[in-house]
Amino acid sequence: MAGRLDLDGNPIKPMKICMIGAGGFIGSHLCEKLMSETDHEVVAVDVYNDKIRHLLEPSGHHPWSSRISFHRLNIKHDPRLEGLIKSSDLTINLAAICTPADYNTRPLDTIYSNFIDALPVVKYCSENQKRLIHFSTCEVYGKTIGSFLPKDHPLRQFTDERRFLNQEPEFYVLKEDASPCIFGSIEKQRWSYACAKQLIERLIYAESAENGLDFTIVRPFNWIGPRMDFIPGIDGPSEGVPRVLACFSNNLLRREPLQLVDGGQSQRTFVYIKDAIEAVLLMIDNPARANGHIFNVGNPNNEVTVRQLGEMMTEVYSKVSGEPSLEVPTIDVSSKEFYGEGYDDSDKRIPDMTIINKQLGWNPKTSLWDLLESTLTYQHRTYAEAIKRAIAKPFAS
Ligand code: NAD
Ligand code: UDP
Repeated sequence: MAGRLDLDGNPIKPMKICMIGAGGFIGSHLCEKLMSETDHEVVAVDVYNDKIRHLLEPSGHHPWSSRISFHRLNIKHDPRLEGLIKSSDLTINLAAICTPADYNTRPLDTIYSNFIDALPVVKYCSENQKRLIHFSTCEVYGKTIGSFLPKDHPLRQFTDERRFLNQEPEFYVLKEDASPCIFGSIEKQRWSYACAKQLIERLIYAESAENGLDFTIVRPFNWIGPRMDFIPGIDGPSEGVPRVLACFSNNLLRREPLQLVDGGQSQRTFVYIKDAIEAVLLMIDNPARANGHIFNVGNPNNEVTVRQLGEMMTEVYSKVSGEPSLEVPTIDVSSKEFYGEGYDDSDKRIPDMTIINKQLGWNPKTSLWDLLESTLTYQHRTYAEAIKRAIAKPFAS
């Protein structure tokens, strides 16, 4: 750890990092990385700490015990926030409502969480001249330009009902400094999240332009891995709907068919959390290269339709659990049935990697198969017994 150098060969000085949302999926992996591979100190802020409890053992238990502290606070209304930001060198804001099932059913909470609650964080960083790494989303790109071409347009050629042939990248590859943000109509409340994230990005950008805020904005493209979200009825509400990795994991663990929303034709690129965390560490350690930039962080080589993801997860889970797959492994469900009124979808998300390559030399490494194998091994080891007990319970007495 001592003697770590930045990308320009300069020694990296230990920093004090205020990490808001440290108890979530990305925060837990980032805390692990910072504790095991750096000398940086983490002031972890969240309302929950279950996912980082293993790092917070009593003082002296881990070599890093003196470098991490947990502060249980809700950034909506806690006067301690400003002091924590002021006393740190860098603030990383991960706090958000970021599960699509909430965007159309709890649009007010979604907008408040992603815009209003993030405002004081930006303000305190700007006023106190503190650096900010803010987590936005690839969803700010919304839908691709290509999805709006008329049905009979010559450029709109499909391999099947909705998928593009990969021959006109300018109609779908998403570039930080060139692609527009294309959302659906206001009744499509799915876009409340993307719109709130876009406005906070614009605010941060304006704070930089007018008041000199040092910022980096991260746009994650479907980061997945262990500890993502929750398994309904086990470590989250039975009626809760997490993101697709946890939904499909839950179905596989319970031996239920995976539900493909609107036929599972939407496309996503998935990146392994451990690869993505490497990119964030490069941003932390290289402020001169990261400040003032917006970075796509994803894996353009791991593109699949949601249907293909479901098929691959079914195959991988059968391998890691030793259980045969169901005869009918997937079923189709309409988005209205699954998410309710106001849902809409991004059709395709391929990150352009030019900027992150140029500034930080980062590239993702892990294939979709490999990342699913390690993630589903974790899901099986963590949840299979608890699910069996939960399924057996009603008949126990
Ligand atoms: P997550 O839900 O696991 O983590 C968010 C954490 O923030 C949670 O632990 C939550 O308790 C905390 N939090 C929320 N509101 C808070 C508040 N008011 N006060 C204190 N803590 C609060 O989500 P994640 O996947 O780790 O995502 C982190 C960030 O990255 C979010 O901003 C999200 O929008 C963005 N993002 C993630 C992905 C992805 O692929 N995982 C994709 C796009 C964007
Ligand atoms: N999805 C699905 N079945 C599920 C959960 C999600 O078909 O059980 C689809 C969803 O409609 C979307 C994609 O999977 O097209 C990815 O959803 P996720 O919740 O991970 O978030 P997003 O990538 O849309 O932000």
